[in-house]
Amino acid sequence: MLRVTCDGCGKELQAGEDHHVVKIEVFAAGDPAQLTEEDLDEDHMEVIAEMLRELEAEGEAANLEPSVRHFRYDLCAKCKLRYVRDPLGKEASTKFQFSKN
Ligand SMILES: [Zn+2]
Repeated sequence: MLRVTCDGCGKELQAGEDHHVVKIEVFAAGDPAQLTEEDLDEDHMEVIAEMLRELEAEGEAANLEPSVRHFRYDLCAKCKLRYVRDPLGKEASTKFQFSKN
């Protein structure tokens, strides 16, 4: 059986329980990996071919930082509400400082 725990609070999410998924995609605006017409002239093609040969030589190019990062989180109903109110955690970090503990 597939067990899912909330990435926000660690609570185990039971089957049929309110369960939300957050997917985040992070990529550079104006991605330099995108081909433009300039890239398609012969010199560039040669450079690209050379890069590809190097990548092949290194195997899976595992050391390269991917240009697009994907994140996926499972959240319970409570953590989802908290997340959509403050996706970047700005409010949370402020609150933390003034916590009444
Ligand atoms: Zn939670």
